[in-house]
Formats: sequence, structure tokens, C-alpha cells
Amino acid sequence: MKTEIQPKYFVTNVTCACGNTFETGSIKQNLRVEICSACHPHFTGKQKFIDAGGRVDKFKKKYGI
Ligand SMILES: [Zn+2]
Repeated sequence: MKTEIQPKYFVTNVTCACGNTFETGSIKQNLRVEICSACHPHFTGKQKFIDAGGRVDKFKKKYGI
């Protein structure tokens, strides 16, 4: 077993789609995510993503997709 194939761990700045940034440990140096603890409904208590999904379904029905 070679030890040098193990990926190096960085403290990475993660940028979320909501604009929030936070640090985490990762093998990548820069990360972009679409959801984070600041905007995830599980953490915020809001259900905006479920609502958004409902709107998409209405849109699909309306246009027969
Ligand atoms: Zn976020």
C-alpha cells in the first residue's frame, strides 16, 4: 500500500448558491454548492424547495410536458 496516493485535505471555502460561504474540509480547494445549512429547509424550517417543486409540476401540467 502506497501512502502518497491518499488525497490531500484542504480547508476549503465553500460558496453556496444562496450567497452563503463557509469553510469545510475537502480534497478540493474550492467548492460550489446549491444548498447549505443556511438555506436548506431542514435547517431553516421553511419548505421553499417543496413549494418550488409544486410549481414545476403545475408548469409541466399546463404545458403538457
Ligand atoms: Zn445556501
